[in-house]
Amino acid sequence: MIVKPRIRGFICTTSHPLGCASNVREQADLTRALGNAAGCKSALVVGCSGGYGLASRIVAGFGYRANTVGVSFEKSPENDKPASAGWYNNAAFDHLAEEAGLKSVTFDGDAFSHEIKEQVIDELKTNYAPVDLLVYSLAPPIRVHPDSGERYRSVIKPLGEAYEASTLTLDVLKGTGRLTPVSLEPATEEETAATIAVMGGDDWRRWIDRCADEGVLSDDFKTIAFTYLGNELTYPIYRGGTLGQAKEDLDRTCVELNKRYGGKGAEALVAVLKAVVTQASTAIPVVPLYFSILFKVMKAAGTHEDCIAHINRLFREQLYGDSPRRIDEQGRVRMDNFEMADTIQAEVRRRWQAINGENLGELADVQGFTEDFLRIFGFGRDDVDYDAELSDLASVVRS
Ligand code: NAD
Repeated sequence: MIVKPRIRGFICTTSHPLGCASNVREQADLTRALGNAAGCKSALVVGCSGGYGLASRIVAGFGYRANTVGVSFEKSPENDKPASAGWYNNAAFDHLAEEAGLKSVTFDGDAFSHEIKEQVIDELKTNYAPVDLLVYSLAPPIRVHPDSGERYRSVIKPLGEAYEASTLTLDVLKGTGRLTPVSLEPATEEETAATIAVMGGDDWRRWIDRCADEGVLSDDFKTIAFTYLGNELTYPIYRGGTLGQAKEDLDRTCVELNKRYGGKGAEALVAVLKAVVTQASTAIPVVPLYFSILFKVMKAAGTHEDCIAHINRLFREQLYGDSPRRIDEQGRVRMDNFEMADTIQAEVRRRWQAINGENLGELADVQGFTEDFLRIFGFGRDDVDYDAELSDLASVVRS
């Protein structure tokens, strides 16, 4: 079978097993090239199959030689339908870990459910405890509440008043884009509460409490969750909107976790990460336009990082390194220092004001954005023959 990208807007319904495997191998190689570091021996990564969670698992495994347990919600291949990219990423990670003599196991299922927590904790007790790092990197659209069974759907909307702006609509396969208007009505209170239930801190706290109650965490464990702040251009749709409310809940959870577990030397952190193209981030309106302007400016300044470079810097500099912590007044670790640098932001603002249909390709990195998007699904790599027949969509990643 030959697998080609099938794209609708910011959704790609196919993924290439060999391309995904190459993506994971490349990230592992980049991490190994930075050298072995110490501090993390056993890690649980919730949301391990893509974006920042996958990068965290790779850095823990191939930068720190940690044994890792991953949890994610992915689709396996069915007949002639390829698996989701995250499923291939997990298979590739487990394969590389085995090659490197590291223990790893991946659980596929709903991280919010009691069942998955139980299964993971059983495995941790038998093979991985004490866990000294729990990375919480979920970006789910819905949550079925494990106690009530109620189904919450997160929404990406402004609060208070409607928001109108331009966004970038892509023709990914041509590497082109155009500006299109977006108009979003403000969220209702119910929608805001649902978004907090899905993307806030409740489930992070549940993972930590369950793991602590079951005795699978080391006394001095670290746990980290990720957030985004952005600037005034993205504020109405991100930090000032429903997602921002959920992220404020995550910040409050971090404070609570430190109160509850800090006594014996454990530490909970929220890290503010930079903008990168992932399945989750491309779903946010307006963000593609801001990101593609930002990437052009950061690439010109030589400060652009992708997921793996960014997470390597997080681990080696802030999480375990001995550099002074870059902490803001809310206690968050600021990894977005390059993105938020005054010179970068001033140039992004200037371009944002000036951008139009004619100068889009000149002021924004539309091509880079589309390349990053295709890469998520294992497409657009030079080292993969996309015309080659694949015999078996499940086992090909191990070859
Ligand atoms: P992503 O879409 O690449 O990955 C999300 C992960 O969550 C995947 O592994 C997916 O399988 C998993 N997942 C979703 N629902 C699940 C469920 N019910 N059970 C188990 N697993 C589930 O997302 P990402 O962009 O890497 O986001 C990860 C975190 O980083 C989020 O908290 C996000 O807000 C934050 N962040 C992202 C950016 C960015 O620009 N992408 C910037 C700053 C912070």
